[in-house]
Parts: sequence; structure tokens; C-alpha cells
Amino acid sequence: MKDRLDRLRSQFRERELDAMLISAPENRRYLSGFTGSAGYLFISAERAVLVTDSRYTEQATGQASEYRVIQIRGGWDWLLEQLKESGAKKLGFESQDMTVATYNVLLEALKKEEPLTQVSMVAAPGMAEEQRAIKDGGELDALRKAIHASDAAMDAVRTEIREGMTEREVAWRMESAMRDFGSEGTSFDTIVAAGPNGAMAHHRPSDRPIGRGEPIVIDMGAKVDGYCSDLTRTVVVGEPDETFRKVYDIVLGAQLTAINTVKAGMTGGDCDGLARSVIAEAGYGDQFGHGLGHGVGLAVHEDPRVGPKSSDPLEPNSVFTVEPGIYITGWGGIRIEDIVLLDGEGATPLSKASK
Ligand code: ZN
Ligand code: ZN
Repeated sequence: MKDRLDRLRSQFRERELDAMLISAPENRRYLSGFTGSAGYLFISAERAVLVTDSRYTEQATGQASEYRVIQIRGGWDWLLEQLKESGAKKLGFESQDMTVATYNVLLEALKKEEPLTQVSMVAAPGMAEEQRAIKDGGELDALRKAIHASDAAMDAVRTEIREGMTEREVAWRMESAMRDFGSEGTSFDTIVAAGPNGAMAHHRPSDRPIGRGEPIVIDMGAKVDGYCSDLTRTVVVGEPDETFRKVYDIVLGAQLTAINTVKAGMTGGDCDGLARSVIAEAGYGDQFGHGLGHGVGLAVHEDPRVGPKSSDPLEPNSVFTVEPGIYITGWGGIRIEDIVLLDGEGATPLSKASK
């Protein structure tokens, strides 16, 4: 935690900040170790303060050893106090997270008292997110456990899917199996999309019975120690038809091309292009409408972004998904998604579920 705090502080000069208010839940957890659902961090060159309510003060004191923990009952008096005591004039805030309503309340509060009228609020989005894109050993351990839970559930439940089962039944079996394999919850709402429903990349599971020979897109994620996994497989009950075989091979080819050729130093956009060109050359460019992937960690979607327009650098020890798909209206979709870890050389798949 000390390292993470120091790295955040090292950005203060460049961003022209005296202190930073952290409000985003994942960043609060990342920078403090506190896993509770409410609270703020105030970080200046000298201070590291965590405020939370009475439900969490004991827990926060145990988890966030680098922080002075203050119990509050809501309101912003504590922040005004920290600003006065620290003499901070430029307060950074997470503009990607803070609501306009909260921002306005803070602005009003700063207008009221004399020394605080000199404090300005500076939008400082993405500081902790940038750090979070590079994973350390402990984070990789948690990610591996979450990835194992979804891999094992996929491999176990995949073979139990029968004609006539509903998408919702399959989703529940998968979620239940992820729990059995160590998941503390799902990292997002499970997607099971059979037949024509699969043409919608983010379809919600319905009561529609699964038919023989239909492609079934299953996209799900487990969570361990707050870290998320994200896995997609496309399967079929019975024999796959001609279209399935052809499209599956193209999507798999695109995915393997990206995994095998991506290098540290490329941008997210470069990596996206590796897979996209394979799909475009096969004539399905217009049927691959979403980005190739995204970073994954405490949030299921985080930096680096891996899409056609992304200039995010892909750095060693970043972890992201590679998930090309082809979606054909009226027929269905095929998507294959794995999580990879980038090192100085290239990418290593962490997902191990059968393809
Ligand atoms: Zn997914
Ligand atoms: Zn994903």
C-alpha cells in the first residue's frame, strides 16, 4: 500500500495538485486495502486519511494500516478540516466518478469559509486507474484464482447443457458452479444467448428454451478477493452446422492471431487491429461491432482499453481480455474470450477453459 500511495503522490507535481480526494470504490480499495462499501480517501504529501461510517471504522482500522481512520456521519466537515490543517490549495478529485451533485455541494462548502475560498477543485481523472493497469504479484494471484473459478465452472457445466433448458437455467448453473470453485460472487450479470439471441452481444438470459444445433454464447465472470475474471465460450448442443464451423474457425483464428502476436509497446488499437484484420479478410468485418478487449482487475472493465480507437499503451504486467466475435442477425453469434497477461515478450493466456 505504501508503494501505491507513493506512486499516486508522485503524480501530484505533474497534475499540479496539493492533495487528492479518492471517491471511486475500486480506487479506494486499491490505494488503502479497505474493502468496505463506503468511504473516501484524502491524500496529501504528508497525510493519508480514510473516512468512513460507524459500520466500517473497526474494519478500516484493521485493513488500512497506512491511513488515519476517521469515523464520520456524512457531510464534508471532515474534508474542510483536512484542507485547513494541510493548507492544500489545489484539491484533485475523481471527475470520472464524482457526481455533479456532490461536486456542487463541495464547491458551495468551499465558498463559505475564509481560508477555504482559496481552494480550487481540480479534475484529476484516471490517476489510480493508470496505476491499476499494471498488476503486482498479489493482484495476479487473486486474478488467477478468479480465472480458475470461471474456467472450472465452464468446463463442468458446458457438458450438462441439454436441448430445452432455458438460458436462465444455464446461467444459474454456471453461477452456482463458480461459487463451488471459490468465487465470492459474479463480476457481472452472466450472459447466455442461444440461437438468434446470440446476435446481440450483451443479451440477458431469457426463458427461451435452447434448441438443437444453435450457437450458445456464454459470457461470465467470477470474483476472488475483489478481482474479476471474464470468460466467453460459444458451444452447441448436438452437431454444429456449416455456418457454426466456418464462423467459429474465423473467430478462433482472429483470437489466436492477436494472442500470439501482441507485444508490449503496442497500443490497445494496434492489438485490436491484429484480430480485426483476420475477421475483415474473412468478409465479416461489419459483423464484429465491439472492441477486442479490456483490462480486467478490481473492475471487470478497466485500463488498458483494447479497441479500434484506443491509444492506451500495452505495458508489461498488464492483464486484458482478447474477445473477438461475429454476430449474424437471425442466426446468432460466436465470441471467444480469454484473459492474457503481457510480459516483456508477449502475451500468455491465463484462461484455461477448453475451446
Ligand atoms: Zn466477457
Ligand atoms: Zn470482456
